Amino acid sequence: MMSRNITVTHSSQPCRQITVTHGSQKAAGLNGTQLKLIAAVSMLIDHIGSIFFPAQSWMHFLGRIAMPVFAFCISEGYIHTHSRKKYLLRLGLFAVISELPFDLAFTGGIDLTQQNIMLTFALAVIALMLWDAIIRDRKPSYLRVICGLAAVAGVCTAAVLLGADYTFFGIGTVWIFYVTRNRALWERTVCGVGFTTLMRTAHSASGSTFGMVPLLFYNYRRGRGLKWLFYAFYPGHLLVLFLLNTLLHMPKLRIILITEMIPMKYTCPHCGKKTFTPVQKALCGGMSSSGKPCPECGVRCVNGKLSLIVNSVLRLAAFLMIIIVYFAHEPGNKKQILLYGVVPLIAAFVLGFLFDMFIGKLTEAIKRE
Ligand SMILES: [Zn+2]
Repeated sequence: MMSRNITVTHSSQPCRQITVTHGSQKAAGLNGTQLKLIAAVSMLIDHIGSIFFPAQSWMHFLGRIAMPVFAFCISEGYIHTHSRKKYLLRLGLFAVISELPFDLAFTGGIDLTQQNIMLTFALAVIALMLWDAIIRDRKPSYLRVICGLAAVAGVCTAAVLLGADYTFFGIGTVWIFYVTRNRALWERTVCGVGFTTLMRTAHSASGSTFGMVPLLFYNYRRGRGLKWLFYAFYPGHLLVLFLLNTLLHMPKLRIILITEMIPMKYTCPHCGKKTFTPVQKALCGGMSSSGKPCPECGVRCVNGKLSLIVNSVLRLAAFLMIIIVYFAHEPGNKKQILLYGVVPLIAAFVLGFLFDMFIGKLTEAIKRE
């Protein structure tokens, strides 16, 4: 699983090193999964900040950690994946899936000018594939290096034109982590993160410098996969943030949800005030009961004719079912009688209660105590 380049760079006893990479064995430092987790938390803080607390610059500052760490994970993913084509396809697929949640979360509608980071990383993988096709396993020459750089620059230009998140320096950062793969970890980290930080002009950009901290603890282990979880987290968290934002910023929707769809109070037929909650209304009982007093005027109220009809039908149906089950089954089969007899009876009471909670009007009780 772990690739040849670990063999070359990190140990003179490759076999022993390699067998430890997957499992649950503990190793000092942070593995790939833990790096992704740190980046995901940073990204979540950043996005919560952008959407709900735009004035809180510390959230953006912490959020800048995410990009260089994810870029590092992408370059490691590219190095170790079984199939680079499938890796590219996965990123491309999630770029498509994530675009609508990305637009909705940040603009509230469809925005064709800016695209999500999955697209940036998919383009970065294309850049690495082109670079490898030109440079890898060949005799190095100025011409090859220039052609390779031109190919990467071409992909960077595409990213700028398409409006992919972090544009050219998102791709550049992945590329730097990749071409320094045989160097010491601190060199990779300083070069990659340094590039990210220098290319940004916003004042929160210095936050990306702190991306160096988790990266310097990387132990070159993959960790527990959780691959699909991280892919799904990106569109998933954007969608959840969008929905939350919609709920919080649409007072009308809030009113409909709480007070109209689930009416909190029912009107007393005597004083005309909204004095009964759904549960209180249901507890008033039907027309044959003496009802409950209105908290405002004290007149006893019961559920009206509609409730009487519905409850009668429900209970009659349950009763019929009990009789049918009683005669249709062998007398000894108590389990079945209990199941098919008691369940409809309970269902009839629950449905009747729910009906009284939400549907039908109250009337004044005829029966006195
Ligand atoms: Zn009343």
